[in-house]
Amino acid sequence: MTTSHDYDLIVLGGGSGGLAAAFRATQHGRRVLLMEPGELGGTCVNVGCVPKKAMWLAADLAGRIGLARAMGFDVPLVPALSWKELIVHRQAYIANIHASYRRRLDESGVVRVPRRGRLVDAHTVQCSDGVRYTAAHILLATGAHPSRPEIPGQELGGVSDDFFNLCEAPAQVAIVGGGYIAVELAGLLQALGSRVTLLVRGKRLLDRFDGELAAQLAENLVHQGVRLHFDYRLRELQRQGGGGQGDGVRVLGHDGPLDSVFDTVFFAIGRRGNTCDLGLEAVGVEIGDRGEVIVDEGQTTAVPSIHAVGDVAGKVGLTPVAIAAARLLMDRLFGGQPQARMDYGSVPSVVFSHPPLGMVGLGEEEARRQFGDVKIYRSNFRPMLQALADGTQRSLFKLVCAGPEERVVGVHLLGESADEILQGFAVAVKMGATKAQFDATVAIHPTSAEEVVLMH
Ligand code: FAD
Ligand code: NDP
Repeated sequence: MTTSHDYDLIVLGGGSGGLAAAFRATQHGRRVLLMEPGELGGTCVNVGCVPKKAMWLAADLAGRIGLARAMGFDVPLVPALSWKELIVHRQAYIANIHASYRRRLDESGVVRVPRRGRLVDAHTVQCSDGVRYTAAHILLATGAHPSRPEIPGQELGGVSDDFFNLCEAPAQVAIVGGGYIAVELAGLLQALGSRVTLLVRGKRLLDRFDGELAAQLAENLVHQGVRLHFDYRLRELQRQGGGGQGDGVRVLGHDGPLDSVFDTVFFAIGRRGNTCDLGLEAVGVEIGDRGEVIVDEGQTTAVPSIHAVGDVAGKVGLTPVAIAAARLLMDRLFGGQPQARMDYGSVPSVVFSHPPLGMVGLGEEEARRQFGDVKIYRSNFRPMLQALADGTQRSLFKLVCAGPEERVVGVHLLGESADEILQGFAVAVKMGATKAQFDATVAIHPTSAEEVVLMH
């Protein structure tokens, strides 16, 4: 490694990917400078996974309080929730994560610059205050930002970042989109006191997930009270009124206005890489249609000293993926492991709906395309708590098996605790387990998870 540079590594972005890279590079004995103009932890910690999960847990509790009442507990039908108190707990949790990152950065000797960086050349970054630093390698871990549709009145709508500024449940909310964020916000806002309308431009939700389970999830949302419109073509948002009661935002589609006037409209229509004004094109880094940095399978750009991980690299937009890709890249660059590469196959993922939806591996259609010879196993059941409380919610689990040996190439779970059950089965899928090996595993009774090894 050359010593003519100030550092071995400069990281742009102190989110999931950037922090993981900085810590791993210091473990390999490297000198690291990290630039982050905002709060440590990036999207996940501040306006993503963590505050979202806090709100989801609260929404989940609301559902369980309803079940408790049905089982004989003396609790009100609709328990009062102080959003403000909930948010105090949420933000205290986040403040602890900030403190822990600050401590770890100090302990590991990472130099932290609380400013934006911009590339000057293949080894030089300039801070927003004009100071320049050089490094043998530069890592782009600048994340992504929410997209907005190009329609009249789009400024009247908010995005997921704005959701985390709410201090109470808006009475009427419209959410545009049919992906992860739209589904998660719809479920938790409905459970926490809002009346939600979900506007989906396609014919189904969550097109990266199994169609059968996504259809069941859509039914669950409707059952929870969400008004769900498929094939919805949004045309315009208009402000109604001049500040009095009944004021709000009108939503107009190609078929005319929706009946309700909304207090809040959220766009959840995907995210674009944060590549603007980074000086990338000038140094020869390619940028794709979604604002993403184009990288090879080792996360390196067309410029050998410049790399990208996480959302800005536009592959799979999940925190554990950003972390894993960052660590593997550092192992490759500094850890003497030239073969270290991120495996983007079999990445497990969960949508925090109510109940949650999880998947690992291939969906039925993709498996048929890849293998032809595919066998599907299903289990559709009412979990015990729902049955005890006369609840109607059912779980739907599905295994996708390929070839004569029936290798389990996909596990799809919609149901209570699917978020917690999936991780272990993701190990089995990654190891190439067969249906016979699932069958030979003794069940844990009585649980929902046992259904995964009892399907026929
Ligand atoms: P980020 O975490 O976004 O970090 C990028 C950082 O770069 C930011 O802090 C930014 O300030 C900084 N930056 C930008 N420009 C510059 C610059 N020029 N110089 C220096 N720094 C810069 N994933 C999951 O796995 N599970 C979930 O449950 C989940 N829920 C989510 C919920 C929501 C609402 C959202 C929006 C996302 C969610 N995600 C979830 C996705 C997850 O948050 C992202 O995949 C992850 O945060 C990406 O990490 P990153 O390091 O690539 O980027
Ligand atoms: P997604 O890519 O998941 O979904 C985007 C949705 O918006 C799709 O339904 C898409 O429809 C629709 N859409 C796109 N453009 C328009 C438009 N102009 N008008 C109307 N609808 C439109 O993005 P999200 O924003 O929901 O989430 C971003 C990413 O963040 C996710 O992909 C995921 O990587 C990550 N995330 C992960 C979570 C988790 O792990 N639990 C939770 C939240 C986010 P179509 O299918 O027709 O293109």
